[in-house]
Amino acid sequence: MSFSNLGLSEKVVSAVATAGYKTPTPIQEQAIPHVLARRDVLGIAQTGTGKTAAFTLPMLTMLEGGRARARMPRTLILEPTRELAAQVQESFVKYGANHKLNVALLIGGVSFDDQDVKLTRGVDVLIATPGRLLDHFERGRLLLNGVELLVIDEADRMLDMGFIPDIERICKLVPFTRQTLFFTATMPPEIRRITEQFLHNPVRVEVSRPATTVAATTQLIAKSGRDPHEKRDTLRRLIRSADGMKNAIIFCNRKRDVATLFRSLLRHGFSVQALHGDMDQPARMAALESFRKGEVTLLVASDVAARGLDILDVSHIYNFDVPFHPDDYVHRIGRTGRAGRSGTAITIVAGANDAKAVTAIEKLIGQPIPLMEKLPGQPLPPQHGVSERPHAQRNGQPHSKANDHHHPRRHGAPARSEEVRSRRTPPAPPPRPRSEDADVSHLPAFLFRPVKV
Ligand code: AMP
Repeated sequence: MSFSNLGLSEKVVSAVATAGYKTPTPIQEQAIPHVLARRDVLGIAQTGTGKTAAFTLPMLTMLEGGRARARMPRTLILEPTRELAAQVQESFVKYGANHKLNVALLIGGVSFDDQDVKLTRGVDVLIATPGRLLDHFERGRLLLNGVELLVIDEADRMLDMGFIPDIERICKLVPFTRQTLFFTATMPPEIRRITEQFLHNPVRVEVSRPATTVAATTQLIAKSGRDPHEKRDTLRRLIRSADGMKNAIIFCNRKRDVATLFRSLLRHGFSVQALHGDMDQPARMAALESFRKGEVTLLVASDVAARGLDILDVSHIYNFDVPFHPDDYVHRIGRTGRAGRSGTAITIVAGANDAKAVTAIEKLIGQPIPLMEKLPGQPLPPQHGVSERPHAQRNGQPHSKANDHHHPRRHGAPARSEEVRSRRTPPAPPPRPRSEDADVSHLPAFLFRPVKV
């Protein structure tokens, strides 16, 4: 299958060729002909599947006829975050290189007046976050009754962010006869209800579940104490000892923790940027850009800020906090191992609640996440023969080189050393820590002998 068989216009096919894409992705192949046939589409797909082009390309083809009128956008795309909205705008620039269409972005953190000037000129494609769109509408600066096509992207994230009432309101403000394209990675009941209410006889297009996209990523768990200092120390050890580190995104559950961790890493001399919802738009864009360009190695982020970001080549993901929702885990680690590359995702687990959250994640992804038995820089536990270590799996294969310092075992199973102690059998003299344990290798061997109490 090639792009020229999908019914797209010549201008679009040529822009796609210039972008270097040879074959459509499954979501593009399945959705584009239906969009061009003016059907409503329910797309179940996450970022990384090529879903943005699945709606952008047919939209460009359809917009070639007709003209926009002042304050009356012809098409409307709703995105949950400013970054995603900006990313979709970039797609229109890339794929619309042969078109003369007016594309406007209505997002928070950018001047109302500049946005208003654009609306007055007439807009073919309006890309907006729900809140800012309604602000413009309520000021009477925007009419929604000319919208022929509505795209609701990342709907499940809209739900997480509390945007569903805004979405329902917007759906009622656009004409009943418009075409609707609706994309979501998951189908919780609230989302199903919305699709039943606002889509007319939609074609359902589903591409592989997010959980299958994590196959190229080596996943590990690192245990830590709950004290934040200890967690930060654990993280620093993990980063310093990481093999093949090109760059990493570190996820925290709360915005204030993003800021604290960012400052701490900076103090410890790491090359780092922060990305969270309280930063203003230019600061967020600048942080993201410097990470994308490789000017900084680490990006500390919250889920909302980082959701859906298209950064193709992230080598490591660290979950400084175990995410509250298992779906967020899949989205977080989906930032690495993209486009056929391999990646490593390490989750720091501190305390019983975290362990419970990990169990829920393992259930969702349908596989256990191996536990690192020893953090870099710590001595091996007694009775732990190197040759007895089970190995982490990568794509179901024994994982050899990338994490030689990581000693994974099944999360939740007691460590071998714990078993030995509980049976009160005297442990054999432990092996001397290996040379990679740089901070203990200079100590004399007797210090590692077990002590009889
Ligand atoms: P998305 O799922 O829309 O976030 O797209 C993920 C990435 O895939 C983006 O970097 C796109 O530029 C890229 N992409 C989209 N369509 C194709 C295609 N047909 N072939 C190769 N790459 C693509």
